Amino acid sequence: MNLLKEKIIEHGRVIGNDILKVDSFLNHQLDIDILNEIGKEFKKRFENSKIDKIITAEVSGIAIATIAAQYFNVPVVFAKKTESKNLDSETYEGEVFSYTKDKMYKIRISKRYINSGENILIIDDFLANGQAILGLKEIVDKANANLVGVGIVIEKGFQDGGKLLREAGINIESLAIVDSMSEGQIIFR
Ligand code: 5GP
Repeated sequence: MNLLKEKIIEHGRVIGNDILKVDSFLNHQLDIDILNEIGKEFKKRFENSKIDKIITAEVSGIAIATIAAQYFNVPVVFAKKTESKNLDSETYEGEVFSYTKDKMYKIRISKRYINSGENILIIDDFLANGQAILGLKEIVDKANANLVGVGIVIEKGFQDGGKLLREAGINIESLAIVDSMSEGQIIFR
């Protein structure tokens, strides 16, 4: 998606070897025009699939999934990272290993909001090692729902997640794949 690539080149900041910061339009300040284009592009990429629901993880996935959902006309459910009294005690849980924090954490969705047989599209901001998507997939599988595909805004193609998930047979659509990056230079696939 060229518009997205231009935006990444203009605004993206490379931190260390492998972190791409896109806070000015995706992860902190939200550029609604580009989010709308991202939403339309996801709709185009999954045009021929029946989607009943979009799921994502808090926090960064929510805005992207919500705007995309307007083009699919389906609800969004976001997995929560913290347990709280107001989350139904009946939840499906998924485990996520965070390489950046070097620890496991759990994400959860109430059993009320994901049902057996539903066709699910997962949407997230970044794909790095694939652990966040695997945690969401675990929830979809536990609910006996059907994972139709995964929509990713930015895939870091030099990390293992894309390969791991595609080899597992998951249908992944990434709108921009970064093959390599260093300060001042971002190369797309
Ligand atoms: P994974 O589970 O695929 O290793 O990492 C995916 C999650 O980590 C994404 O949901 C995203 O929040 C975060 N993440 C991983 N790499 C980056 C990055 O380079 N930049 C930003 N902003 N977030 C990242």
